[in-house]
Amino acid sequence: MSHDRILTSHVGALPRPPGLPGLAPTAADAPPVDVARAVDEVVAHQRACGLDIVNDGEFGKISFLHYVRDRLSNMTTRPLRPGELHSADAVALRDMQRFPAYFQARGGAFGRGRAVYECTGPVRYTGQSAIATDVRHLRQALQANGASQGFLTSISPLTVSLAMPSLHHRNEEEYRIELADALREEYHAIVDGGFMLQIDDPGFAHAWQAHPEWTLDDCRAWCAHGVELVNYALRDLPPDRVRFHMCWGSYHGPHVVDVELHNLIDLLVRINVSCYSIEGGNARHEHEWQVFSDFKLPEGKSLMPGVVSHATDTVEHPELVAQRLMRFAEGVGRERIVAGTDCGMMRVHPEICWAKLEALSAGARLASQRLWRRAA
Ligand SMILES: [Zn+2]
Repeated sequence: MSHDRILTSHVGALPRPPGLPGLAPTAADAPPVDVARAVDEVVAHQRACGLDIVNDGEFGKISFLHYVRDRLSNMTTRPLRPGELHSADAVALRDMQRFPAYFQARGGAFGRGRAVYECTGPVRYTGQSAIATDVRHLRQALQANGASQGFLTSISPLTVSLAMPSLHHRNEEEYRIELADALREEYHAIVDGGFMLQIDDPGFAHAWQAHPEWTLDDCRAWCAHGVELVNYALRDLPPDRVRFHMCWGSYHGPHVVDVELHNLIDLLVRINVSCYSIEGGNARHEHEWQVFSDFKLPEGKSLMPGVVSHATDTVEHPELVAQRLMRFAEGVGRERIVAGTDCGMMRVHPEICWAKLEALSAGARLASQRLWRRAA
């Protein structure tokens, strides 16, 4: 809740310095990266762009999802087998069936050459030291830059189970409960460290793409299961310290068969957090602000719509950002809106990313002036 202006944040991944370990191979000539210093710089950059709720750019891990390889036991990788569909491509499966030549030409949803991740034994959390380092780096960077509000992201057990199947567990349920129990150690470390925890759960909505055989009822059953699972993992964490990010997968593509927000919104808001991050800044999902004309966001909850997007290199005009925010404010109330991004912004070029985050802040200032002056 903000009582005098719209606060600003983003979804997590920011442009990474060359040499920082990631999913792509590091260039041989890249200089070694001092992660603490890189986090300090990325916090300074966010503050310079006018962002209020800032993070470490996800520099402490290789990606929003695949980092579990380094923090959960028995998560292994192997090369893709000939003819095998990568689980990352499955998140665009309905799109792929409709646009086969397009996806063939671009090498799937995320390009070729990615390893397959599988679980091959019991799941335990082994990332205690890594998450403690993430917390320490962000705390130092906030202090150094005069920032008071920080967030750290952590993956949902639902999305891990979708992207990284288990060869070990007797059934999906057993696997997901183990994932939830393991990941909640990380959730606690983030909240105990004094930061907002952001649960990343793209699999909540894009499982629909991965299962073309599903009916809408099947999809809703999946999401209802996801609500129970995430709430189980969050069971003793304060909801006002947790927000939930859902999206329709970060891949660039048509997205014409994404499940619609109005089909899921009643389930989404049952997740026991205080803020929901959704897409609202791209050509496929922007219109969904209308959902909140009819659907009443429950008391005490806020919304962080994307008002700039990773989906296009075109930098949003601050006036458009302000318009987007004002539409959401109309349905939800100005105090309950946080200006956000559709998904992780490292999907666009670093120069474009920072320009978009500046536009986000500028647009939020415009919307705040109009929303609060109008009410005065
Ligand atoms: Zn996302």
